[in-house]
Formats: sequence, C-alpha cells, structure tokens
Amino acid sequence: MFDEFNREVFACGQQIFKAGDAGDCAYLIEEGTVEIIIVDQGLERRVSLIGKGEMFGEVALIDHQPRTATVRAVEKAVLVPIRRKLVEELLEKSDPILRHLLLVTLERFRNKQSSPAGPAASTKSSQEQAIRRIALKGEATQNLSLAHGITRALTHDEFKLYYQPICNLSDGHLAGFEALIRWHHPMNGMIQPMEFLWLAEQTGLIREIGLWTLERACRDWPTLRQYTDYDEPFVSVNLSATQLTSESLVDDVKAIIACHNMPATELKLELTETVMVERPEIASQILNRLIELGCSLALDDYGTGHSGLDHLQRYPIGTLKIDRAFIAPMLESAQSQEIVRSSIALAHSLGMNVVAEGIETKGVGAKLLEMKCNFGQGWHFGKPAALHDLALCYAKKIA
Ligand code: C2E
Ligand code: CA
Ligand code: CA
Repeated sequence: MFDEFNREVFACGQQIFKAGDAGDCAYLIEEGTVEIIIVDQGLERRVSLIGKGEMFGEVALIDHQPRTATVRAVEKAVLVPIRRKLVEELLEKSDPILRHLLLVTLERFRNKQSSPAGPAASTKSSQEQAIRRIALKGEATQNLSLAHGITRALTHDEFKLYYQPICNLSDGHLAGFEALIRWHHPMNGMIQPMEFLWLAEQTGLIREIGLWTLERACRDWPTLRQYTDYDEPFVSVNLSATQLTSESLVDDVKAIIACHNMPATELKLELTETVMVERPEIASQILNRLIELGCSLALDDYGTGHSGLDHLQRYPIGTLKIDRAFIAPMLESAQSQEIVRSSIALAHSLGMNVVAEGIETKGVGAKLLEMKCNFGQGWHFGKPAALHDLALCYAKKIA
C-alpha cells in the first residue's frame, strides 16, 4: 500500500510541523511514534502519542487554516505525506455521496478540535444559546412568566407571521415564501422566535403555536400567491420536533387546508433532523401521511445537525435547505464552499431540489447559481416582512 508515495524521515526529537504553520498535507505513520502538542497559556502540553498506521494533520486536507498543534517525532519516524492537491483531485472524481460523507466528517472533527470547550460547544444551536442566555439571566420565575406570556400572546393575538421570499436563483423570480413567527409583545416590543420557542417546546405550548402558524399561513396564502408567477408556488411552514410526533398533526393539517381551500401541493413543511433521529418510526409514519395528503417536505438547517445520509434516503423529502452557517462564509472559506457544493450534488443525486439560506450578497447568489443550486433565501432577496408590508412591495409589481 502507498508504494507510489514518497516517504519523509524524521529523527528523534525533530519537529514535523508547528502550530501556526500553513498545512497542505496529512501524514500517515509508517514507522515510529510522534507526539501531538498544543500550546496552552504559553506552555507546551502533549495531548497524544500516536504510532504506526495512524494519521495526523488530516484536517489540513480540507481546511486552508494554519496548523492548530505542533507535532514532533519521539523516535525515528517514517511518514507518508498525503497532499491536499491529490485528495482534492480524488474527491473531484469520487461518488458525490462518499465525497459528502468525508467532508462532513472532517468538518465535524475540525469543529471538535477548534472549539475551546470541546465538541458540544461548537455545535450548539442558537436555540441552545437562547436557553443558556435566559437560564443565566433569570431562573425559574422568569421562565414561568415567559410561559404565561406565551399563553396570553396566543389568546390576545400578539403573534404575527412574517414572510420571507424564496427565489429561483436562475432568474431571481419569486417562487414562494417561508413563514416565520414574531411576537409583538405589548411591553417589550418585538421578540424573535429563538427567544421564546424553546420554552414553548418544553411546555408543550409549541403545539398550539404550530397550529396557529399553519392556520395563519394558509389564510394568508391567497394574498401571497398573487405575488409569484412561478408554476409551482409554495409557502413553507416550520414544524417543531414535538409537533411531528403528535398523533393529531396529520388530521390538523388536513382540517386547516380544507378550511382555507388551500391546495396541499402548495404547502411545504420544514422539519429538522432531530425528530428523525429521536423518533424515527413515528416520524416516518407521519411524514408519509403528510405526503399522501399532497404536502411537500423540506429538511431545514442541513449541515448543522446529524446530517445522516440515511435520513435523506429514508424519508420522502423533496427539498434540502442548506444552513446559513455554510452559505454566509462561502466566498471566503474554501471549506464551506466545498460542503455547499457537495450538499447540492448529493441532494440532486437523490432527486431533491436545494434552497440556500442566508444569501446576503449578489456574489454569494451568483456562486450558488454556478453550483446549480435551485433556490435562494436571504436578505439579498428580502428580509422577513409582515403581510401588509409585502403588499406594498409586491403589489406594485403585479399592478
Ligand atoms: P429557520 O427556519 O432556519 O429560519 C431562517 C432564519 O434565518 C430566520 O430567522 C430568518 O429571519 C433568518 N435569515 C434569513 N435570511 C437571512 C440572512 O440573509 N441573514 C441572516 N443573518 N439571517 C437570515 P428567525 O425568523 O429569527 O427564525 C429563527 C428560527 O426560529 C427559524 O430558523 C425556525 O427554526 C424558528 N421558527 C421561526 N418561526 C417558526 C414557527 O412558526 N414555528 C416553528 N416551529 N419554528 C419557527
Ligand atoms: Ca425553516
Ligand atoms: Ca433554516
């Protein structure tokens, strides 16, 4: 194995690379032992000792960032360098599923290494951050009053549904909208969903909020629909993990769309991978029944969660939404760009269309179009807005 590769030999104590060096290759240890060292508050600390058959420096294969650790031979070491250029050439030729799997795994490994508090901290969702923020601020009584506030908001019509345009990347035309909830609090002004949905989820109030959102989106759809000339227009509604395990969800959706004469094919339901991981059997049953009704499904925040390839194949998902975390830095980060490229290829190979979230500039939109991404959502196309503000914006265009 690796016969055609050159070897590099390092003497005992010799440095192979140091933290801060530019790195363009990984090393496979053919003989000998090396130590991995990090510098912590000015002091060197050995974090591991690895030997024959093991590999180090592999993050450099996709990451154009400087090395994060120093590596030294602790005895004579014979190493097989595996250059990034070669790996890129091989990846380019490889099966899109394998390529994607490798990139996601390396990305996760990199997060694990670069996060000061370890893997958990680097993958914390904004929702978890909101939980921490509120928990730090105010403890139980505050949460109780927030829960009361949510209940009051439901009965006093304080929730509002905003809509954000989703556009066809090839011609910029409006294809549909995503419905996003806002809380117009009588004392505290506008409250963003991340600030209260986590508690709604914990208290079960999310079911009522979910029904309210679905009902409002279907009620507003005839107005919104006039603003698009796309041949398959849609409104996307977010479903929480709790809603997705509710026995009554399918009947509720059926009743709401019937009440508003909403064509089921124009209702897209967005879900994240959480539910598929935690309750796969129930999720599969419910999702199939929603498809039977005629609705379509979108997998939201792709790339931030478990990103198991089996979810994509196992569930009847028509749309993959790539998370903003990968889209926003795309032009500066070759790694994000590669993850986006491989996600698009993967989705297309599974017959799905792709929405890129968080497009803030024309340049990012153009790059995504070049990568054959189907749809875009983000401030470049429009921020979420209330129905009457959208009317001011789009009514002129259809007049
Ligand atoms: P999401 O489903 O990923 O929604 C996209 C979020 O990205 C929205 O945040 C949107 O305002 C924001 N966004 C869109 N384009 C851009 C951009 O170009 N730049 C930046 N910086 N941000 C952009 P929002 O409205 O705060 O919603 C946050 C999350 O709350 C949503 O994330 C969704 O998970 C949840 N959510 C919102 N409404 C509902 C709802 O009615 N039901 C449920 N279950 N969840 C909801
Ligand atoms: Ca969403
Ligand atoms: Ca999303």
